Amino acid sequence: MPASERKLKWCKHGHIVGEIKKVTFGSYRVQALMLYEQSLELADVPEELPPLRARLIGSAADVTCTICKATLEWIIGQDTFEALMAHYPR
Ligand SMILES: [Zn+2]
Repeated sequence: MPASERKLKWCKHGHIVGEIKKVTFGSYRVQALMLYEQSLELADVPEELPPLRARLIGSAADVTCTICKATLEWIIGQDTFEALMAHYPR
């Protein structure tokens, strides 16, 4: 997929920490942050998805950039939240 069509997630210093992809969760398609094993320089957008540290579907605080150690936050989307709620009925 061309880089321009990818939703990259980067730290405040411009390192790519991961990218946002639609994944299947239960019977839903939800957004997940594919957190790269190693953060990358912005010029080095990988052709393929590199090895991952984590696949984050719910919100996560303190996601760290492995290059500069900056932290960022991954906020769950409303559609994803609703899918999770539907998946785990009270
Ligand atoms: Zn960084």
